[in-house]
Amino acid sequence: MEYKVTIKNGKEKQLLNHHPWVFSGAIENITPEYAEAGFASVYTSEGRFIAKGYYDEKSHIILHLLSWNEKDVMGEEFIKKLFKESILRRSEFFSEASTTNAIRLCHSEADFIPGLVADAYASRVKLVISSRFAYSFLQSFVDVIEALLKPSLIIATTDKEYASAEGLSEKIRFFKSGKEVKLDEGKIEPVRILEGGIYYEIPALRGQKSGFYIDQRENRILSERYAKDKVCLDVCSYTGGFTLHLLKAGAKKVKAIDSSESALRHLLFQVHLNEEKKTIKEDSRDKVEILSGDAFELIRAEERNKYDLIILDPPKLAKTKGKLEDALRAYKDLNRVAMEKIKNGGIIFTFSCSAALKPEDFKKMVSWSAKDAKVEAQILRVLSQSEDHPIRASFPESEYLKGLVIRIIK
Ligand code: SAH
Repeated sequence: MEYKVTIKNGKEKQLLNHHPWVFSGAIENITPEYAEAGFASVYTSEGRFIAKGYYDEKSHIILHLLSWNEKDVMGEEFIKKLFKESILRRSEFFSEASTTNAIRLCHSEADFIPGLVADAYASRVKLVISSRFAYSFLQSFVDVIEALLKPSLIIATTDKEYASAEGLSEKIRFFKSGKEVKLDEGKIEPVRILEGGIYYEIPALRGQKSGFYIDQRENRILSERYAKDKVCLDVCSYTGGFTLHLLKAGAKKVKAIDSSESALRHLLFQVHLNEEKKTIKEDSRDKVEILSGDAFELIRAEERNKYDLIILDPPKLAKTKGKLEDALRAYKDLNRVAMEKIKNGGIIFTFSCSAALKPEDFKKMVSWSAKDAKVEAQILRVLSQSEDHPIRASFPESEYLKGLVIRIIK
């Protein structure tokens, strides 16, 4: 059985343009009467076909659109096909030439599967689910991963930001050889990955995101280009994603600031690990200083004109469009202070991972910071999320990470 859903007149335009979200206010009617979550064919009020999707009244997004092709047959096989195609689009990452084995296999709506993030860390796969839709097909996703990748372990978690609103269990689930298994959470070893010549140890269960910020991969590798013999500041370092690449490139000093003490401890552990592996010089530990606390405050205490290179990678400050004004002020302030601490001719890598902040506004913010700091800023490069986190053209919400490499002239 498939529902037939009619969209209110005037609410169909975005959907015809392949935007995948339908909220309850856009629904004219549903037939037969709603009983439980299920697939639906979706029409305009004039009866024109729009798309097929999944309707669930308990979900924050009542209808997720999945296909704009009327001939597609909805069901488990179709969902499996979507996920299989998403993984196969990443085949380059699994080739001999690949310089990493931390790979996002599915980037939710941008890979046509609402609410499913799947990250491969070496032989392990971590799922972070944020929709009822994706949760109900968990076993199907496990089957696809098993068939294509044969991982040693699949760990399925739900996204803390959405779990309670969607009514998803926060219980962590484990799958081996395609079957759900019970494991002692305390006993699961971390897993080691390689990214552009650097080893990172990804915590099995704790940690932010799925354990690592894979989306910054290409930007971290790029930062090496500006780091040799340089005095560097890594602001919001987490476990040292950038710090390690700066050390690899021969940075003279790196100071890492983060509010999470455990992330900073892990940063130092990873410096040792890479010294041992000889991916960075043996005296690297002596070049690193860690500082825990509020970066927005701590950076003020730094000496003016001290740094050659500063990384600014703050957390998502604008969670919603409503919070944008406050967030812009915080970004502007952070960037202005960094501009005071950088030397004449120094480089700042500045990022924002708030999807609500548009790339043009991010650039404008940097120009305001420069004006207040009484410096000139040249944009050398415009950066984004790594390519396994695609931006779907019809879904602007999937563009979230923005970065600029700027040179500061005093
Ligand atoms: N650059 C990192 C990712 C940074 S994510 C990498 O490449 O891996 C953002 C980081 O900001 C998180 O580690 C979080 O702990 C930290 N953070 C959040 N609020 C903070 C604050 N007020 N001051 C300092 N760090 C903060």
